Amino acid sequence: MFWADKIAADAKGHEIVNDSKTPSGRVHVGSLRGVVIHDVIYRALKHAGKPVKFLYGVDDYDALDTVPKYLNQEKFSPYLGFPLCNVPSPEDTASDYAKYFMGEFLEVFEYLGVKPEVYYLRDLYRSGKLNSYIDTFLNNAHLVREAYKEVSKAERPDNWYPFQVVCEKCGKIATTVVTDYNGSEVFYTCKPDATNWVEGCGHSGWVSPFDGNGKLPWKVEWVAKWDVLGVTIEMAGKDHSQKGGSRDVANAICRKVLKKQPPFHSRYEFILVNGTKMSSSKGVGSSAKEIASLLPPELLRFLMLRTQPRTVINFAPNYETITRLLRDYDTLVDKYANSPEIQGDSAKLTKDLMPLFYAQIGDEIKPYNSFDFSTLISLLQIPHLDIKEEIAKRSPQPLSEFDWHIINQRIAAAQKWLQDYADEEEKLVIYLEQVPDKAQDLSPEQVSYLEKLAENLEKVENWDGEELQTTLFSTSKELEIKPAGAFQAIYLSFVGKERGPKAGALLSYLDKPFVISRLRNVIELNASKI
Ligand SMILES: [Zn+2]
Repeated sequence: MFWADKIAADAKGHEIVNDSKTPSGRVHVGSLRGVVIHDVIYRALKHAGKPVKFLYGVDDYDALDTVPKYLNQEKFSPYLGFPLCNVPSPEDTASDYAKYFMGEFLEVFEYLGVKPEVYYLRDLYRSGKLNSYIDTFLNNAHLVREAYKEVSKAERPDNWYPFQVVCEKCGKIATTVVTDYNGSEVFYTCKPDATNWVEGCGHSGWVSPFDGNGKLPWKVEWVAKWDVLGVTIEMAGKDHSQKGGSRDVANAICRKVLKKQPPFHSRYEFILVNGTKMSSSKGVGSSAKEIASLLPPELLRFLMLRTQPRTVINFAPNYETITRLLRDYDTLVDKYANSPEIQGDSAKLTKDLMPLFYAQIGDEIKPYNSFDFSTLISLLQIPHLDIKEEIAKRSPQPLSEFDWHIINQRIAAAQKWLQDYADEEEKLVIYLEQVPDKAQDLSPEQVSYLEKLAENLEKVENWDGEELQTTLFSTSKELEIKPAGAFQAIYLSFVGKERGPKAGALLSYLDKPFVISRLRNVIELNASKI
């Protein structure tokens, strides 16, 4: 059974799935893993006919702890230590910093078809909904300290209270320390040395902790959120899920202070995005928004789902990774399309098809005639080629409106990839005018291969990718030359590289007379070697 369906099958009663995010800046694509995982649990529960709600919390009472490098340092450094909802927005499009960055992230949710009920911590605090929890945790500060000590070995002084006030004088929340509570007010100090990244102003005094005057530390806040919202399922990333980590601490506080069971929990792994070029040279990065503008929504969901939650996803938007992702997706769609007995009934889907099912924005898989993505990337780089005409010509069957919808999406993705992500090595340049320099140094064996090939290609009647590919192979067999060396000679002759896209397909996009005359030119230039 697919992991999310298993969670759904085990669920009893009304479930509330929750996830959350601190909107401290541009959201990395890695954060989408949790979003998609929770969305799929939600869908699996709905699918199983169980009552369920999906909530997404914006932790905007957290402090701004660093100014991201893409923002004006001078403008934002004075706000270090402020709650994110009290920091100005980088642009006029939002009321504040938290809403600005969350807005960007929510656009990606929309794109991915993820529709949780979004709530903001500022509203929970300011409306007084968390007042009773604040009172409970302040009155049971000793139990909270005990939980920290027992679970994470973190010692807190006896006069430490689980609360942070927004300093009435300087506006910072990260620098205040509460050392007393009299049942209606807390005593706090805004300490110059509270953190090593921002200084407090030194102010101290008594103030009410209620109605938005401050916040609970996040592990404690987590417990308050679970209870006030009735959360029953919340997964957490590996960083929070280690033994003695924040989730364990929150669980212990939940049991000790509220005397309740914490929600169902399981951990998920990170997404490692490799490739330094992503974040620097071309100015494109690995933010969720940027990756969403590269991959169609189903493919981005599929990226998150084809790997089990507990396994690391290595994602680098290079040729290899991107073309494999698309190929794997198309292979599953084809498998589905070729299995009429399971169509239209998701209960009959095999386990390997479930990631495809949950990758859909809607509730059904719609088969289409696919067009190989790596070929598309090659085609887009051939000058003067009408891509759509070429695709229509090469498709074995007439293409429907939906096929074209998918193909247009793929063309856009391939163009975006070529423009923003492909490095020079990955780009294909077809040498139309002259023989590439690298083709002038072939081995005698490769030259004889090209000679035989030119001869055999003359005889090819049907100039299409499949037939050409067959000819390329049969010629190497005929001469008993290893295909690796033979194909290398072709790539060197046309693209000046040792490797390239499927060679038969590549040649099929070029004119027959051009291909044959190029082979003859290369042979001539290498003539002295025979
Ligand atoms: Zn202060």
